[in-house]
Amino acid sequence: MLKGKIAVVTGGTRGIGYAIVRKFLQNNAQVVLFGLKKETVKKALEKLTKENPSWKVEGSWPDLTDTVDVEREIKRIQENYGKIDILVNNAGVSDDKGIDEYNVEQFTKIMQINVDAMIRTILPTVKGMKEHGGGCIINTSSMVSKNGQPGGVAYPVSKFAVNGLTVSLARELGPYQIRVNAVAPGVTKTDMITELPDEELQPIVQMIPLQRIADPENVADAFLFLASDMASYVTGAILPVDGAAIV
Ligand code: NAD
Repeated sequence: MLKGKIAVVTGGTRGIGYAIVRKFLQNNAQVVLFGLKKETVKKALEKLTKENPSWKVEGSWPDLTDTVDVEREIKRIQENYGKIDILVNNAGVSDDKGIDEYNVEQFTKIMQINVDAMIRTILPTVKGMKEHGGGCIINTSSMVSKNGQPGGVAYPVSKFAVNGLTVSLARELGPYQIRVNAVAPGVTKTDMITELPDEELQPIVQMIPLQRIADPENVADAFLFLASDMASYVTGAILPVDGAAIV
């Protein structure tokens, strides 16, 4: 579904991002995954190459809080591959502090990664996409971007912002044939969740009409759809992949 496409996926070393990278590779895209550290990037690349040595994947670890570093890396990819067709802004951090434990620095730190970092990758990527006549950007939102959550306020705030960024850019960039969408996952089986004891997990499962938490592959399928030509008339969508969970 993605033959000939060049994709960049941030936060691609584990969890949902890793599943997106795998799904894109299985569908014949070439992928550059971004990670936090050289070691985790190396480990993810080894795992992928072991699974299929013919997959065309490389990795890097630009500092997503550093505009110059991110711009340099995006430009390098554009020069090496000639273009970027798909940008997935997936890197993110969550938070569960109560309001009394909060300080402005903590709030800003979450916004820096979950929102500002998206703009850092988007600005240089969009320049190239405009020159090449189009492209697609997919941002990772969350089910908490509907009703918020009681605690860790910066996290839902950041995901509401992701939705705002997505729908606004979809309108601005539509005339350039750049589609901008978001996927809003529900509770998904990543490291964070699998560490939860059963007595904490079960009440969560009870709130999900589909009666199970998502596998990262379920979420990655939505990214594949939005990245593919099957979604050629879909832009400005925030696609929930949450089993209709009510939080
Ligand atoms: P995860 O913690 O397994 O992965 C997060 C990824 O982001 C990692 O690859 C990590 O390296 C990267 N990252 C974090 N901080 C970074 C930084 N400072 N610089 C560069 N990279 C950084 O979590 P996940 O569940 O796979 O989360 C992926 C996305 O999905 C996030 O945006 C998260 O908010 C969203 N999400 C997750 C769930 C869930 O239940 N797991 C639900 C809704 C939304």
